[in-house]
Amino acid sequence: MTDLLLATRNPAKLVELRRLLDAADVEGIRVLGLTDVAEFPEEPETGATFAENALAKARDAAKATGLAAVADDSGLTVDALAGMPGVLSARWSGRHGDDRANLELVLAQVADVPDERRGAAFVCAAALVVPGGDEVVVHGRWAGNLARAARGTNGFGYDPAFVPEGEHRTSAELAPQEKDALSHRGRAMRALLPYLRGLASS
Ligand code: IMP
Repeated sequence: MTDLLLATRNPAKLVELRRLLDAADVEGIRVLGLTDVAEFPEEPETGATFAENALAKARDAAKATGLAAVADDSGLTVDALAGMPGVLSARWSGRHGDDRANLELVLAQVADVPDERRGAAFVCAAALVVPGGDEVVVHGRWAGNLARAARGTNGFGYDPAFVPEGEHRTSAELAPQEKDALSHRGRAMRALLPYLRGLASS
């Protein structure tokens, strides 16, 4: 068994990675979260890109624990806001983690933007760092448009404002399994699978 640390305290992310590994028949990996290992100082996310933040988190986690570590960083990029909120997604309103205020601010900022220019995407970078070994960063992108008003109660963050391409529903109106299959995080994690398979057999 190889231990793999997913640098998160979010139980939903742990369940999702375990489910992905099972679905892809990757055996021999035990997924641990940050609450399963000794505490270590976690640096604030100050990178200019999702990839920088994900890599910094995975490096810190691998260095502190000696375990292979995966970390992700994600957010919403809005065409009419020149790609913002981007890496500032979690604190766009000035209050870190205030999902409702962040969402309302983005919708207010694009209130006058016409339908044909309301493009947006969720983006996720996922990094794998093996102590004394490889580092890899992959990306997942989920394209869509901003709704005119928030709709739906599933998910979190900007989900009530995001209408994925080919959908009429917002991502907060999709069932969790539907979102997993399409989402930026699901895509990034699936792109890591070949590397995780290599880890399991090493
Ligand atoms: P983190 O990568 O988990 O730190 O997420 C950063 C921020 O991006 C979150 O606080 C949300 O505002 C936004 N975000 C990331 N992924 C999603 C998603 O799947 N749905 C809605 N918002 C998201």
